[in-house]
Amino acid sequence: MSTASSFNSQHEISDQVRSKRFGERTAPPSIPHPNREQALKMARLTVGFPNVVNGQRIVSSRLIKISDPVTGEELADVPDTQKDGLDQAVQAAKEAFPLWSSKTWNERRDLLASAMEELKAHTDELCTILTAENGRPYSMAQFEVTWILETYAPTLLQMELPDTTWNETGVGQITKRYVPLGVVAAISPWNLPFWLSFTKVLPALLAGNTVVLKPAVFTPLTVLRAADYIREILPPGVLNVISGGDDLGPWMTSHPDFQKVSFTGSSETGRKVFASAAPTLKHLTLELGGNDPGIVLPDADPQAIAENLFRSMFALSGQGCVTLKRLFVHESIYPALTEALISCAQHQKLGDGFDPETTLGPIQNRPQFARMQTTWEEIQEAEAPILYQGEVPSEGAGLFFPVTLLDNPPAEAAYVVRENFGPLRAVFKYRDVDEAVRLANETPYGLGASVWGTDPKLLDAVARRLDAGTVWINQHLNVHPNVPFSGHKNSGIGIEFGEDGLKEFCNLQVIANRR
Ligand code: NAD
Repeated sequence: MSTASSFNSQHEISDQVRSKRFGERTAPPSIPHPNREQALKMARLTVGFPNVVNGQRIVSSRLIKISDPVTGEELADVPDTQKDGLDQAVQAAKEAFPLWSSKTWNERRDLLASAMEELKAHTDELCTILTAENGRPYSMAQFEVTWILETYAPTLLQMELPDTTWNETGVGQITKRYVPLGVVAAISPWNLPFWLSFTKVLPALLAGNTVVLKPAVFTPLTVLRAADYIREILPPGVLNVISGGDDLGPWMTSHPDFQKVSFTGSSETGRKVFASAAPTLKHLTLELGGNDPGIVLPDADPQAIAENLFRSMFALSGQGCVTLKRLFVHESIYPALTEALISCAQHQKLGDGFDPETTLGPIQNRPQFARMQTTWEEIQEAEAPILYQGEVPSEGAGLFFPVTLLDNPPAEAAYVVRENFGPLRAVFKYRDVDEAVRLANETPYGLGASVWGTDPKLLDAVARRLDAGTVWINQHLNVHPNVPFSGHKNSGIGIEFGEDGLKEFCNLQVIANRR
C-alpha cells in the first residue's frame, strides 16, 4: 500500500482541506498507533452509548449488544429504541424545526462548523471506537473520520444556495428559492458508519432541516458518541440520534412526520424503503448497492496501475458500495496484470485493526460473513478457477474471509452477478472492447465504473458507453464533496455531494411577483 498523497482536483478549495483517495493509508496518526488494550481504554466504552434526543442523553431498559468483529467479544450495549422513543425523537425534531430553519444560512453554517471543531478534538477517541466496532485498520478509521471533519465538512460548509431572481415577460419578477423540507430521517449502513451518517446529516442541517439519524444496528457506537459530543453545541432537537433493531428502520420510513428519507444501504432494502415511504409521499434519496466494473484497455501499463486497481477492489476488505468488483482485462495484458495483482494480494495482512501491520480487516458482521461463505460454497461447487487466495488469521473468533481473485469465471455466474460485499473479486479476460463494454453493463447495478489505459480519446469514448452514475478514468473510488455522486439502475435514486446533493434536502419555491 502506498502512503497518502493528495489527489489533483479542479475543485480543491483550500490548503486546510486535505483530500485523500479512498483506501489510501493516512498520514501518521496524531497519537502513536494504539495497541488493542490502550485503544479500548481510549474508546471509553464503559461510559456508555445513550441515544441523543432533544439535546439529552436517553438511556433505555431494552438494549442491543454490539460485538467486536475481530474477537467476537461484546464491546458495549446501545438502546433498542421502540416506537415511543422514535416518536419522541421526531417530536423533538419537529419542535426544533421552526427556529433552526429561520436561522440564517451563516448562523447554521457557524454552528455546524463549531460542532465539527468539537469532534476534531475527539478524533483519536472516535477512531478507536470506529476501529473496534468495524474491525478495519486504525489508519482506515482515521481516513473515514478525518475525511468527514477535514475534507467533507469544510467543503460543504462553503456551499450556499442563494435566491436567484429574474424578470419573465408576462409573469413578473421571478425569485427561485431553496427552502428546507422539514424533518429528515437519515438511515446509514454499517460499512462506513461515520462517513455515511455525516454526509446525510450535515447537508440536511445546513439546508435548514432537522434530523433523526439511525445508524446501522451493527455499528452505532461511533455515531452515538459523536452525537453526544455535539449535543450542547447544536440547539436541542436539531440532531437526534437513535439506535435500534430491525423494526426501527421501517417505523421511520413509514412515520408520517418525516418529509424525507435519506437512505444508504442495499438495493433490496432500498425497495422496501421506497414502498414504505410511498403512502406519505416522502422525498427520497436512495444510495444503494453496486457491482462496479473496470475495463483495462490493451494499451494500459499493468505495473503502473496494479496497485491502484488492487486498492480500488479491496479497500474496506471489499465492503464498499463503489469498490471495483468486476475487472475486465484485455487478453494481451491479462498475464502481466494478474501477476501484478497477485503480488499486491501477497502483501496484505488480514488481522486486528489495532495491529499496525494489518492492511485489511474482517467482515464486519455475521450475516454478511454467512453470505460470503455461501458464495464461496457456490464457487467451489462450480469449480471456478482461482487466481489467488490468501490466508486468514489462524487463531481467534474473527470473521475473516481470505483475499480471493477469481480467474476468468463465466460472467453470468450467480456468484459474480450478485454484489460481493467482501474481499472476493472476479478478473475477466476479453478480446474485443465492445464485448467488455457489453458485459460491464450487463448488471442490474449502475453505481460506479472505470476505464484504464493511455489513449485519451479511447478512454473517453469507452467511459461514455458505461452505464453508471460515476465513470472514472484511470482511477476508481475517488469521491469528492464537490462532485455529485449518484447511482443508475438499481444503485439508487437521487444525488449526494455537491450542490446537487445539497438541493436534495430542499423544496424548490418560486415567487412570481407581478408588480
Ligand atoms: P442494509 O440495507 O441491510 O441496511 C442499511 C440500513 O437500513 C441499516 O441502518 C439497517 O438497519 C436499515 N434497514 C434495514 N431494513 C430496513 C427497512 N426495511 N426499512 C428501513 N431501514 C432498514 O445495508 P447494509 O448491509 O447495512 O449495507 C451494505 C449495503 O449498503 C451494500 O449493498 C452496499 O452496496 C450499500 N451501500 C451503498 C452505498 C452508496 O452510496 N450507494 C454506500 C455504502 C453502502
